[in-house]
Formats: sequence, structure tokens, C-alpha cells
Amino acid sequence: MEKKIIAVVGATGLQGKGVVNALKKNGTFTVRAVTRNPDKYNGNADEVVLGDLTNLDSLANAFKDAYGVFVVTNFWEGANELEQGKIAVEAAKKSNVAHFIWSTLPNVEAISKGKFEVPHFTGKAMVDELVKTAGFSYYTFVQPPFYFQNLTGQLGAQPQQDGSLGWTLPIDPAKKAIHMSDINDLGKVVTGAFLNPEKVGKGSYLSLATTLSSFNDIIETFKAQGKVYSFNQVPVEVFSSFFEGAGEIAQMLAYFEAHTYMGPDSDSSIKLAKEISTEPYTSLHEWIQQTAN
Ligand code: NAP
Repeated sequence: MEKKIIAVVGATGLQGKGVVNALKKNGTFTVRAVTRNPDKYNGNADEVVLGDLTNLDSLANAFKDAYGVFVVTNFWEGANELEQGKIAVEAAKKSNVAHFIWSTLPNVEAISKGKFEVPHFTGKAMVDELVKTAGFSYYTFVQPPFYFQNLTGQLGAQPQQDGSLGWTLPIDPAKKAIHMSDINDLGKVVTGAFLNPEKVGKGSYLSLATTLSSFNDIIETFKAQGKVYSFNQVPVEVFSSFFEGAGEIAQMLAYFEAHTYMGPDSDSSIKLAKEISTEPYTSLHEWIQQTAN
């Protein structure tokens, strides 16, 4: 019997790569990478096709004959996530996709009753309703946490004025507020969801979270492996003036401090993601060891 096809949007990116690799490792499905530049694709998918989240026909074509799709949008590339989410849902409906998995995030405005505004969270959450009402046989929401990868990437430690290497951020370093994981582990959860549509395909939320950490916890874990980092807490207003887009990061950290990354009532979606995952998650300790080698 031919394997069912799973099409992965964002297959060249951090989330999608993990999804492709976990699906390939599991072996149940044929894995199709969707990218705007198929000629440049060098990942592990079985096939690669052209697909653009801003173009309905191109995406419907990319989803042709697919049993399932995984969709992530990239806020940081300037995406209108509601618009792209709408196109992805329409394309999947057009192509008779059975199982739609949407990479979403908590609705910060709803959770904080309008106190915090974090468009790169809430913009994704606003697509959830479209997914719920589209009439898919199966649909699942996955919520990626703060990537471990941020700690050496976009939000990595920086040289400080006192000569140390560390973080200057508007958050209490003692507050356990940040749900975190190796983002590659999202693939294990997504694969588990495609394998268990009866269990999690009727609108379940699966929140990936290996730990709920404070910056002090993060610094301790690095220290245990010989990497010493400092932390300097600054007021939101000061941080917001540091660089373009700092205001959004400041709002996000203030939201984490008040409600945690995944928000209140996230215990059951965190537990369900762990149960459905095809393999155990990688700890921060293990991830630091792996990336150091
Ligand atoms: P990434 O590594 O920068 O990759 C972005 C992916 O998006 C690429 O594979 C790119 O594919 C694809 N893409 C962008 N625009 C597209 C379009 N118009 N059509 C088709 N594909 C498109 O990003 P990522 O980290 O996997 O995902 C980004 C999202 O993660 C952001 O929205 C961010 O808010 C969210 N997020 C981040 C964190 C975090 O801690 N960093 C946590 C939770 C959620 P091609 O270029 O190959 O076409």
C-alpha cells in the first residue's frame, strides 16, 4: 500500500526541519517539503514542491494528494499571519486534506485581558477559529515554546558593559516564566499527532514544553557545563528603546512574567503533547552538550 503524504510548510526552517526529520525517522508517511525555492532544498524530505503562503493556487498545488499538512507562518519575515493562515486553510480544503496541523501560539490579548500586546503570538491564535470551522476531518493545534536555539541565536548572550557575556532584559531572572524546548522536538509531537488522529485530531492543543525555566535556571544549566553568563534586569521602557522591534520583545517578556509563556491552564496541553510525542524530549543540558560538539 502506498504511504500517505504529509506536506510540510516551512520545511527549510527551524520548526519544519524538525517536523520533516521526525516524520522521516518514523517512516509511516511520505514527506513532502514545501518551499518557495525548491531548487535550493537540501533537507531530508522524500519530495520537494513549490508552495507560497501568499498564493492560494501555488499552495493548493503543493497540498495536492496530501493526507496531512503542517503549517507555520513567519511573523519575522513580515507575514500577515491571519491572511496566510486563511490561504493555507483554503488551499488545504481545495486539496481535500484530511488532517490540518496549525502551528499557533497563545492569545496574549485574551489571556492578559488586553494588558499586553504581542502580535506574533495573537496573530497566530486568530487563525485557530478558521481552522476549527473549516470542516477538516482532523485538525490539531501545536504550540511551540521559546526555542533553546534562541539562546545561541536571535536572543543569544551579548557582550555587556562590565566585560561579561550575558543578557540585559526586562524580566525578573528568578521568575520561572519561560516554557522552553529544543525546537527539533516539535517534530516528534507533530508526528505523534498525525499518527493519532482519533486521539488529538478533533481540535486538541499540544503545547511543547520541556521545562518551565527562569533566566537563573538557564544560566545555572550553562554554568554546569563551564559557560558563564551574566544577567542584568532593565525596565521595560529602557529596553524598548534599544533596537527596532524591542518593544514587542519587551511586551512578550512582561506577558511571560505575568502569565508564563503558554499561559494559565496549559498543564493539560503540555501533558498531552508529551504523551503523543514519538520520542522523549531533549533537555537543555543535553542540547548544550550537543551544540558544543
Ligand atoms: P525560520 O527558521 O526562519 O523559517 C521560516 C520558514 O518559513 C522557512 O522554511 C520559509 O520557507 C517559510 N516561509 C516564510 N514565508 C513563506 C511563504 N510566503 N510561503 C511559504 N513558506 C514561507 O522560522 P521558524 O522558526 O521555523 O518559524 C517562524 C515562526 O516561528 C515565526 O512566526 C515565530 O513567531 C514562530 N515562533 C518562534 C519561536 C521562537 O522561540 N523563536 C517560538 C514560537 C513560535 P522558504 O523560505 O523555504 O520558502
